[in-house]
Amino acid sequence: MQNNPSHNERFVGPLWNEHIKHILIPPSQENTLLLDTFLRNDPLWQNHAESVYAGIIILDTQGIVVDSTCHPVALSPPWTDEIIGKPFVQISWWSYDLLIQQRIRTAIDYAIHGQIVRIDTRILCPSGSFRDIKATITPQLDIFNNISCLIYSYLDTTEKRRTEEDIRMLINAMPQLVWMARADGYINYANQRWLNYTGMTLGEIQDWGWSACLHPDDFERTTNEWRECIRTGKPFEVEQRLRNIHTQNYRWFLARGEPVRNTHGEIVQWIGTVTDIHEQKLLETALRTSYVRFKRLFTSNIIGIALADIHGRVIEANQAYLDIIGYSQAELEEGLARWNTTTPDEYRSLDEKAIRELLETGTCTPFEKVYRRHNDGRIVPVLLGGAMMEKGSDQLICFIMDMTPQKELEKKKDEFISIASHELKTPLAALKMLLHFVKKHLKHHSYDKVESYLMRTDIQVAVLTDLINDLLDVSKIRMGRFSYIDEMLDLDVFVRRIIDEMQETTTTHNLHLHGATSMHTLGDKHRLSQVFTNLLTNAIKYSPQANTVDITLTSSEHTAFIQIRDYGIGIPEEFQANIFERFNRGSFSKEEHIFPGLGMGLYIAHEIINHYGGTIKLKSEAGYGTTFTVSLPIIRTTPVNNIAYAH
Ligand code: ADP
Repeated sequence: MQNNPSHNERFVGPLWNEHIKHILIPPSQENTLLLDTFLRNDPLWQNHAESVYAGIIILDTQGIVVDSTCHPVALSPPWTDEIIGKPFVQISWWSYDLLIQQRIRTAIDYAIHGQIVRIDTRILCPSGSFRDIKATITPQLDIFNNISCLIYSYLDTTEKRRTEEDIRMLINAMPQLVWMARADGYINYANQRWLNYTGMTLGEIQDWGWSACLHPDDFERTTNEWRECIRTGKPFEVEQRLRNIHTQNYRWFLARGEPVRNTHGEIVQWIGTVTDIHEQKLLETALRTSYVRFKRLFTSNIIGIALADIHGRVIEANQAYLDIIGYSQAELEEGLARWNTTTPDEYRSLDEKAIRELLETGTCTPFEKVYRRHNDGRIVPVLLGGAMMEKGSDQLICFIMDMTPQKELEKKKDEFISIASHELKTPLAALKMLLHFVKKHLKHHSYDKVESYLMRTDIQVAVLTDLINDLLDVSKIRMGRFSYIDEMLDLDVFVRRIIDEMQETTTTHNLHLHGATSMHTLGDKHRLSQVFTNLLTNAIKYSPQANTVDITLTSSEHTAFIQIRDYGIGIPEEFQANIFERFNRGSFSKEEHIFPGLGMGLYIAHEIINHYGGTIKLKSEAGYGTTFTVSLPIIRTTPVNNIAYAH
């Protein structure tokens, strides 16, 4: 006997097996009255009752069947008549089980004593099949409040149970984990997959037990969200990690739950699924990482990136792209930026070819073209590659790299080759001529002349050697093989010696030395002398109208400064910024080569001074001369014995 929820209501069961749920439904007063009415007064209702899977059996106060409606399976004629007059406990429905008969007897007993009794049971039908029924025995009162009869009303729940079983099978066959909860959030069901995955039993998952398999990092978020959904009735949706019993690893799942409402809109239950999204989640994480990288690349402006369509419209672009095609951000936002109109006519065919390739294969082989900038008409050489966003779409993402620096370097290299051959040819031609004279004079035995010609060949050989050494130095710097052999140098003595040597080679200029650093520095004698020789040579070379070069030595606490000032042609401002780049000949890259040179000296000097942590700066005005200032860090410590001095 189950617990007794009210003084006149009882539930008898379980009567046949544990699969039947024992739900105590509050009896409906109207129901009882209705049955009473239609049974006595309305034959039409009775006909209806016979066609539904429900029935009513009237018992007298002794438990004897007085009347019954017809039930298509459970109680079809002639059985309906056959049971009349029989004790209800003895009808064939319960003949298969004495225990059930005993319970029916108890139930009738309660009813006879004024209680409404609920029974879930299984009956044996006349056809030999079993049916599940839900029944209520209601005592009927007469006008004197005495029990006149008992009404046994029942509902055939066989189909409902089968449907439930089918649904349960379906739920178990689903690839998702499925759960159900009461309106108050008490989890009372999880399908087999859920149990298999977590290794928990149905008993263990109940109420909040399921949360034990949540990842600790997801626990609070998930349980808070679930509480909130129970409170507000909003659908539950959360991404969470659940532990797999077999691997002891966590996998990502998307848990979803929908409230089931009754006709009054009240939540009666929650049904939910838990779908494995582990692979998507990993992919998403990978994509997010790439997106972050991509976004960084997008905003870094190292490379121009644009979302465009094949018809010429630029939809989205970073600043680097806009700079290349010459549109402003505002113009882009107004939809005015175009890539096709900024392409000169002679490059259109290349674009068309690329678009054909994009449409056929989804990507295009990177190719070089130029843009004519929309704002100032400047030609910008670029390298362009692209890929269609999706198959069938007309949008593409394209990457462009401004090739101007590379093109300029290429141009400079070409110029350099032509200048270098010229520079190398000049001393060679002089050598050839001198050797011709030597030969000629040897023939005539005029040895004094021969000696003077041979001495002059020395100068040309030195020029050639210097040129070749510079070339070698540049290639060593590029390959990282530029070596230094350091020693302690007395800067003043060192600079003075270079000036003296230079003075001997020039008859046109006076080199004046001012001041002193009174400092030592650690450096490679040969490399540092390359720097100052080049600066002095340039000062003389690029001031043909002047006759003086001033060299000033000063120092601060940690730095020595060597300033070389000439009064020559100067360096126009536009060439100053890049003058230390290799092959850069400043204004002479454009003009006739009035001054010999390869544009390597300043590059090498800059590299050497940089190596010692110093700087080399210039101040110049075209027509008024140039001042180069070299700064070098000073070594203040007393020189140690094993370091050679350059006195
Ligand atoms: P080079 O003198 O062989 O061309 P450098 O690298 O020494 O190579 O100099 C690079 C360029 O810098 C020169 O071609 C010249 O245009 C400019 N330049 C260097 N020094 C001076 C200077 N003192 N006065 C004017 N122009 C200079």
